[in-house]
Amino acid sequence: MKGLKENFQKAHVVIIGSGIIGKFNALELSELGFQITLIDPTQLQNSSSAALGLLMGNMYQKRKGRSWDLRKKSIELWPKWISLLQNINNGLNIEKPLIQLTTNEEKFKKLKKFIDENDDLSLQILEKDSIIIKNINKAFQTKNIKGMISFKDGRINAVSLLKTIDKYLKNKKINFVNEEIIKIRKANNQWFSTTKSNKDIKSDLVILCNSLKAVDLIDNLSHNIKLKPVLGQAIEVSINDAEVDLLTLPKQFNINGKNIIPISKNKLIIGSTDEYSTKPEKNIFEKITNFLNQKPTWLINGQIKKKWFGVRSRPEGEPSPIMKNLGDGLIICTGFYKNGILLAPVCSKWVANEIKKYIT
Ligand SMILES: Cc1cc2nc3c(=O)[nH]c(=O)nc-3n(C[C@H](O)[C@H](O)[C@H](O)COP(=O)(O)OP(=O)(O)OC[C@H]3O[C@@H](n4cnc5c(N)ncnc54)[C@H](O)[C@@H]3O)c2cc1C
Repeated sequence: MKGLKENFQKAHVVIIGSGIIGKFNALELSELGFQITLIDPTQLQNSSSAALGLLMGNMYQKRKGRSWDLRKKSIELWPKWISLLQNINNGLNIEKPLIQLTTNEEKFKKLKKFIDENDDLSLQILEKDSIIIKNINKAFQTKNIKGMISFKDGRINAVSLLKTIDKYLKNKKINFVNEEIIKIRKANNQWFSTTKSNKDIKSDLVILCNSLKAVDLIDNLSHNIKLKPVLGQAIEVSINDAEVDLLTLPKQFNINGKNIIPISKNKLIIGSTDEYSTKPEKNIFEKITNFLNQKPTWLINGQIKKKWFGVRSRPEGEPSPIMKNLGDGLIICTGFYKNGILLAPVCSKWVANEIKKYIT
């Protein structure tokens, strides 16, 4: 029997879809020595490049079950990947902490209970008289924002992350094919991925990381995987108020479910929305800034400088995400309608283990 390393070096893995999930799988498997071909016709309009990059792991309030296990493992895996990728881009980092805020008394009570019941020093309640809360309430012209701070959670710049992984993969000489795959089939112990221009790419294994379109490439009668599109929108707002300096606010926080990232004295990013749709709505400003009963005047008068969106896939009838070994060297990783950036490391680790089992 051949050695494990020899098997890895010989095996050719095709990864279909080059969003964060496809790229992370390519990263993990190339580190293990596999030959990788990453296939995607476009990387500019995927949901990964629209993501705000918040890594909400440790602040997740359910401390058991699959969702928690995935988050917990991913938080543990992130530091290793950051130090590896910093060899390419030393500015890449997870900016911590992350702050979760609410104006709802019941939700605040739940946060307090969660923190009281979990002996986790990295999570703390932010009381009304804390400096952070005072600054936030002052800026948002209200008195009733409260919440918690998580020192283990934070934000990574998603676009910078994707570009850094691309550079890393280029250095590793992985093969990138700029095409759409329209069909996959297995014959004579090999997978054949057919491109739109009718080229066949042969491989030992195929990993489907192409989000909504993954179901088009499998025999769905036997696998029965259903996905719904979920649109997420975000905006960059510019404000014009000499009294307000957005840089006095925390670097990333969430109020009543909306993520807020101040990027300069007078600009901030707000996102994102969740709609069962594929087309962005026109009244996005109203929708996305509607997270307080009364908006501060600087926000009412704010102007959209940029807006963008991404379409994600949400599993129907089973929990998100879908990470399944479909057998015979075919693996599917889809349905990351939320938290795909956070969960990319745990997904690639799981895939690598499945492949090790398949190959040895
Ligand atoms: C506005 C917004 C904000 C978000 N904020 C966060 C956040 O703060 N934190 C977080 O963790 N997550 C966030 N997300 C969610 C996150 O972006 C997704 O969970 C994640 O990007 C999913 O990655 P993916 O690789 O599965 O899909 P995608 O990034 O959509 O990649 C799928 C790729 O497959 C390719 N493809 C499709 N069909 C084919 C084919 N037939 N052949 C070849 N290639 C194909 C597509 O071109 C695409 O590049 C946000 C999403 C949005 C939209």
